[in-house]
Amino acid sequence: MTKLPSAFLLLVLLFGCTALEQSLVPEGGKSASVPPAAGLQELQALAESFGNELTLPVFENSPEELTASLDRTLKEADRRLNKMAWQEPASATFENTILVMDDVVHLVQTMSNRLYLTLESHGRAEMREAAGRELQRLQAWEVKTRYREDIFMACRAFDELYVRARRPQLRGENLKLYRETMRDFKRDGLHLNAGDRDRLEALQNELNQLAQSFDENITDAVTVTYYSEEELEGVPDSFLRGARQEDGKIQVRATVVTDYLAVMENAVNEDVRRRLKELRYRIVQAENGPILDRMLAVRDEIAEILGYGSWADYRIEPKMAGTAANAVSFLERFVDDLDPKFDQEVEAMRQLKAEETGNPEAELAIWDFRYYMNQLRKQQYQVDTEALRVYFQYERVLAGLFDVYEQIFGLEFLDLPNPQEWAPGVSLHACLDAESGEPLGLFYLDMFPREGKYNHFAQFDVIGGKKLDRNRYQRPVAALLCNFTPANEEQPSLLSHSEVETLFHEFGHLLHTVLTRSSYARFSGANVPRDFVEAPSQTLENWCWDEEVLHRFAVDYRNPSKRIDGEVLERMRQADLATKGTYYRRQLALALSDLRMHLRGRNKNAMTIANQTFEEVFMAVPEDSHFSAYWGHLTGYDAGYYGYAWADAIAADLATLFERAPKGYLDPEAGRRLRREIYEQGDSRDVSTSIRRCLGRDPSHEAFVKSLGIQPR
Ligand SMILES: [Zn+2]
Repeated sequence: MTKLPSAFLLLVLLFGCTALEQSLVPEGGKSASVPPAAGLQELQALAESFGNELTLPVFENSPEELTASLDRTLKEADRRLNKMAWQEPASATFENTILVMDDVVHLVQTMSNRLYLTLESHGRAEMREAAGRELQRLQAWEVKTRYREDIFMACRAFDELYVRARRPQLRGENLKLYRETMRDFKRDGLHLNAGDRDRLEALQNELNQLAQSFDENITDAVTVTYYSEEELEGVPDSFLRGARQEDGKIQVRATVVTDYLAVMENAVNEDVRRRLKELRYRIVQAENGPILDRMLAVRDEIAEILGYGSWADYRIEPKMAGTAANAVSFLERFVDDLDPKFDQEVEAMRQLKAEETGNPEAELAIWDFRYYMNQLRKQQYQVDTEALRVYFQYERVLAGLFDVYEQIFGLEFLDLPNPQEWAPGVSLHACLDAESGEPLGLFYLDMFPREGKYNHFAQFDVIGGKKLDRNRYQRPVAALLCNFTPANEEQPSLLSHSEVETLFHEFGHLLHTVLTRSSYARFSGANVPRDFVEAPSQTLENWCWDEEVLHRFAVDYRNPSKRIDGEVLERMRQADLATKGTYYRRQLALALSDLRMHLRGRNKNAMTIANQTFEEVFMAVPEDSHFSAYWGHLTGYDAGYYGYAWADAIAADLATLFERAPKGYLDPEAGRRLRREIYEQGDSRDVSTSIRRCLGRDPSHEAFVKSLGIQPR
């Protein structure tokens, strides 16, 4: 992990610097004069020799600095855009139009990345608040700029000259950049006549307002109910303790997922489960039901004005699936593939219910499946997942991850002193190519919860990769923001197996960013279609189930000679597999509901569409309930839910590369292929081409279906 590649060692010797391990006290106060950390400077000099720019961002230290930075950025962006907009149309070239757009994207993204990171993780509340304000200002600028007609005209001037063959042919990444930049203008309706554009603007404003109300109703919703302790038989004590009221009743918030699941997965009493399900499926139904129907109508009209067959077609156009029809047929085929497995699982759960209730005719209802999935796992597979934590001490897991990824991807990871911690506990690292010693990028790790910090797990871009000119490349900087189980007075940080999976997954996104070789900001790193972006990271989760991989780091922290038991893992895997059909049929019901709502149609009723789809693909929902009124994905991820299953299918296919390799998940040949054909490419070529090159064949769904324990048809 901290080995020095030979070229790097040479430079260190030349500079006579041995300070790599020393930590540097941050200067604080003035952000403009951050001293490069010892070690970083040498790395930067080394990067230089490869034609690479390796820079750390300079984080602002006060709200005033944030404002000033954004002012500077927007002024510079406007200057470049104005210059382009005002130039003579006949002089339009690829470089002075399309390329300028990408330069501005990179400039503005670098600023917005820093603002997002500050908003989500800065140690001081005033900085987080200021970043939120500046982000709003930036978004307003983006909306205004997106609809600037003079910018469109400048790019169209190039487009016309190009189409009339007055400009040199474009190839590869340049051609893709040109096509997609022009497509964006069309997607925004800049090509329309004035009347249509006015109508479009009015509809878009209405849609924004509807979406905002829809989201606010969801966020503000508080639905609380109370049960007696007897009613909640089976629900874990840990939950009851925290939810017990003064009068002894147990409070369950239907709007809080952990509360909801604690009851749905554990409550023995069917009536309790049914009542809670009905409650949850009716949250904000009265408020959001009509809003959703109106949103669907407005989206239809926007799609029509823009010349698309449906809103789903409009949304899916820039993604891998390309059209709504492709996405729908993928889902419908998968529904069929799952038929026998889903039926078997439902029957197994129904039998459990029959035994438990003493009613041989018992039927499995939608409020039962979570409970019986849980029972099935407990009874048949007896896995105590909590007991596995002793094998996953955070520091060992991270070292193991570095070790494994170094080996398969041909990389070196170095620890560096962090010259400017924006919050306590943030560490800095470098990623190098092991063979050549080329520094590829830098990354921050911010792994444990902290007050005011982002509370999920995600990779954040800090500086995106981009070709700066013919001979120089800006190497990327990324950050991982996670919330792993922290250490306490009694023990170090011990992760659950699912946290280990998350770490391997999120680090995959980071590699996607850091390893990029794309020329343009638009295509670099993980800026790939949304229905693909999760696939490589999902593939990497397989590493956490492989005994050979785990044996490299999964040892009992109290007695490191004791390794994790492979048999326990196998049981966990079987337990997971035992209800995968149910899991995916529900996912497919959601995905199909979402797509069907967004296909063209008159007077669509979201409730009818979603409820009928659920009955057809999964299970009937409680009568007159409207779960999609409380479904946040419908704003922002609309017509996109299919992407989860779509990416899972690709991930399973990519995993075959390792499954069939001589050294399995530790195979360096397979790893280097994934690095070269997927990670380094980003979106610089069609991702389906990248997948094909990586696999050396056409992609197929066979691996996915097989991975679920189903024989492909
Ligand atoms: Zn992810």
